[in-house]
Amino acid sequence: MAFNPSKSMTTPAASAHAAGKPRQCDVAVIGGGIVGKACALGLAQQGFDVVQIAPDVDQHTAKPSGDHWAERIYAISPGTRSLLQSLQVWDAIDHARLQVVRDMRIYGDRGEPSDGLHLSAFEAGVPQLAWIGESDLLEHILEQACRFQSKLECVVGSLDNLFIEPDGALLRLHGTQSPVEVKANLVIAADGANSSLRSMLQIQTDEKSYEQRAVVGNFLCTNAHLETAFQWFLPGGDILAMLPLPGKQVSMVWSTSPENAARLLTLDADQWQSEFAMLHDGAIVHTLGTLSPHSKPGSFPLRKIRAQRVIGPELMPKVILIGDAAHVIHPLAGQGLNLGLRDVAALLRILRERESFRAIADPVLLRRYERERHGDTSAILWVTDRLKQLFTSANPLQQKIRNWGMGLVNRSHLIKRYLIKEALGEVQ
Ligand SMILES: Cc1cc2nc3c(=O)[nH]c(=O)nc-3n(C[C@H](O)[C@H](O)[C@H](O)COP(=O)(O)OP(=O)(O)OC[C@H]3O[C@@H](n4cnc5c(N)ncnc54)[C@H](O)[C@@H]3O)c2cc1C
Repeated sequence: MAFNPSKSMTTPAASAHAAGKPRQCDVAVIGGGIVGKACALGLAQQGFDVVQIAPDVDQHTAKPSGDHWAERIYAISPGTRSLLQSLQVWDAIDHARLQVVRDMRIYGDRGEPSDGLHLSAFEAGVPQLAWIGESDLLEHILEQACRFQSKLECVVGSLDNLFIEPDGALLRLHGTQSPVEVKANLVIAADGANSSLRSMLQIQTDEKSYEQRAVVGNFLCTNAHLETAFQWFLPGGDILAMLPLPGKQVSMVWSTSPENAARLLTLDADQWQSEFAMLHDGAIVHTLGTLSPHSKPGSFPLRKIRAQRVIGPELMPKVILIGDAAHVIHPLAGQGLNLGLRDVAALLRILRERESFRAIADPVLLRRYERERHGDTSAILWVTDRLKQLFTSANPLQQKIRNWGMGLVNRSHLIKRYLIKEALGEVQ
């Protein structure tokens, strides 16, 4: 069975393998992002022979250090921490560059003091709610661990074609000198939101553009952030999150219209200060003090993507979709990467606990994975999408409901404990 992509990719592939002879392996992981790296590492640690393929798989991410802070920042859930611990990389991370989050404060768009929601680690009886750190911190440590893993081979290249056969999948890669072939029993698609493997398998997606962009950047603040992540729902549908970083520094994620995003990217330091002073009757400045830019801001489109199946092809499944290849969500809950790493944790556990008579690509295991991930992914996509809709609606009744609802939740310790338990996302 052959899957011919509508367009072939011509990204250079530099591989040591002899042309014409497929490189045999247990698992091929397509994609070299954080999710792909964590998955390839975990599979190799389980003893599988793994080949990881991506155009950027040989990239070297410098260890973050000094006063420069990357603007791409992630909220790391305790579930993600557990996965990184099981991969034996958590302790090797430079913890001085990770900020513990002990409180979250969320404010409604009416400016009424009773509309807020306060989630506290202390109140929930847990040491922390999350950690905030740079993307490069995770990239760097995973790269290092992959480099020293003898069961893992990295091939720089892009997928050109995929042939499904009864005993596995033949991957044809595009290279500088000659195409390279890899034959794998199981293929993991970790090739991001625009996954070409997903298209090759003709897996349909449900997609929605939020008609917004997220503007991200780091700011120095004159007030202490008190290990608190702040989120303000602003009138008109914007959402402004300020996540604490080590020292007196915060990472901003501002979801806004494309026009406003383009304007924000041009602001100088003085203009940023006036911008924050005007927001929410000065609440941002009142909370964090004067904010000065500490990185070059960047922006990303915001959309929701959900693959209708996460295994394929239908009749002879040999491919599993993970990470953004399977789902892309709004960053308002800061859960995109965490959700992708929950896919990895689930896959590793299902393979580790498989019955001794089952081969790695047994369709029963693939269906087990799909069933297990369906509930978690559906729930988080549904909640973030509904919250986004509720908080961007201009309908006065919905405005009342959302603000009143937050105040109500805030007064219930039971609901708050439940929310925190769900947000922690413990998976192991
Ligand atoms: C503004 C913003 C803020 C965010 N904040 C957070 C947050 O706080 N917390 C959080 O958890 N998540 C957050 N996210 C989401 C997070 O960035 C993504 O979920 C995450 O990067 C997805 O990782 P991935 O490895 O699945 O995909 P990617 O990082 O996109 O990696 C895809 C990989 O596949 C490779 N590839 C692509 N095509 C091919 C091909 N044909 N052949 C071979 N390789 C290929 C690429 O080169 C790349 O290596 C945020 C997102 C945005 C936009």
